[in-house]
Amino acid sequence: MPKKPMVYLVGAGPGRADLITLRGAELIEIADCIICDKLANSALLKMARPDAEIIHVPKRIGPGSFTQDQINTMLREKALAGKTVVRLKGGDPCIFGRVTEEAETLNDAGVAFEIVPGVTAAIAASEYTGIMLTDRRYSSQVAFITGREAEGKADTNIDWDVLARFPGTLVFYMGIGSLPLIAERLMANGRSSDTAVALVANATFPTQRLVRAPLRDIAEACRRERIEPPALIIIGAAAAGDAGLNWFMRQPLFGKTVVSTRDAAGNAEFAEKIAARGGHPVEYATIAIQPLTDRTEFVQTLAHLADYDWLIFTSPNGVRVFFDVLNTLGKDARVFASTKLATLGAKTGAALSGRGIRPDFVPTVFTGRELGAQLAAFTNLHDKKVLLLRSALATNDLADVLQEAGADVHDVPLYTAVPHVADADALQEEIQNGRIHWVTFASPSAVRNFFDRIPPEVVNAGKAKVASIGPVTSNQLETLGVRVDLTAAEYTTDGLLDAIERTESQ
Ligand code: SAH
Repeated sequence: MPKKPMVYLVGAGPGRADLITLRGAELIEIADCIICDKLANSALLKMARPDAEIIHVPKRIGPGSFTQDQINTMLREKALAGKTVVRLKGGDPCIFGRVTEEAETLNDAGVAFEIVPGVTAAIAASEYTGIMLTDRRYSSQVAFITGREAEGKADTNIDWDVLARFPGTLVFYMGIGSLPLIAERLMANGRSSDTAVALVANATFPTQRLVRAPLRDIAEACRRERIEPPALIIIGAAAAGDAGLNWFMRQPLFGKTVVSTRDAAGNAEFAEKIAARGGHPVEYATIAIQPLTDRTEFVQTLAHLADYDWLIFTSPNGVRVFFDVLNTLGKDARVFASTKLATLGAKTGAALSGRGIRPDFVPTVFTGRELGAQLAAFTNLHDKKVLLLRSALATNDLADVLQEAGADVHDVPLYTAVPHVADADALQEEIQNGRIHWVTFASPSAVRNFFDRIPPEVVNAGKAKVASIGPVTSNQLETLGVRVDLTAAEYTTDGLLDAIERTESQ
């Protein structure tokens, strides 16, 4: 039986991807077709099925843009073709979202629809700047207004006289282009030129900006500060705000752009941590993790896994590649049988637990040498067979320590890290323009690959500070003549960010 045509009109939330509702996220995951507005965060599309059809429908002027009629038709046709369609819109779908036209088209075609609310920009922009749209002391009412209608439309629905007298908070959407007109009309109709105004651009993103000025000066302030859409205009006593409530922009790394230079997966994880502290992450991959193509040794070892007393993983990459290869060989976690497992660091331990395997020993250490020493203290390694499953580029430290403790060590490489050739020009320009605050390094190979593409002088001469995860990485930086501003005391990405935070708050 063909699927019943269905369209979900989903609010994507105001900016950062995780402000979507659970219902919205669930529908993105199942959709056959997603028709996406420009303001909906495209990071949400990572949740879509790999085979989902994704159509971007910007409504700007010029090639590649769509009219509302074209979008209506597309919605109807995709649904009638039996697809589960998600129409993804920024903020809330029905606040200045032209949902009426889309829903009516669907009704006419007999296509069912569901509306999934989203956090609208006014709510998010005010809450991410500590502005209270309602407050029993000064604002018992709020009006959402479109700034488009200020552009001299003859049939405008906006009553400037009423707005000028409105005893609460005014929030203009789409008003940056017509801000001078908006301010002028409100003042001409009797609103005090001292009225507080706040502009909030890129709300909820690390690039969020806030500009405050009285009504008479706001247009000039907007021009001077080069505020660009998307931005909201908040007018009234609420806009005066209270710096003590501006929790988001007060975060330790807010406004700081931090470059991470690991492999793609490592960068994505690090970016989340930077954003969680309010920073603006820039992911620049210098390394690509590649499973070894010659697997002979691994396959032979696998046949005798039960002979080993201990198996050691030293990175989440090792765990991932191990299971990927195991899978292609048609095997599963049962290969471990009763062999004991140790991991370097909690993250590697978590990578195993995530696959249903509980490691027997997970010391909180950051180097192979420490892991070896701790394992030797934990259990008698004399004459024990120990298998290391790790990178072909790993140092001998761990194996040496284990051997000194009497173990029979077998080191089997699973993967290697190769230089990733990323486009360095854009990043180099950002560094030269002073737009990057920190460049971070988490391994000597990241350092080498980065400075193969970007000359050390560029970084040394710029404003960006250089932060390193530990002494080995700092050493490599110094060898290449790079100025090291900070070496983390705890050799983890959290330790690195703690150290950056401390420097920033000095
Ligand atoms: N349906 C959307 C609004 C669409 S109109 C919602 O509910 O939010 C587009 C306007 O929304 C922009 O011109 C801007 O005024 C506002 N806007 C959207 N995202 C924004 C953001 N992240 N920061 C500030 N304003 C935003």
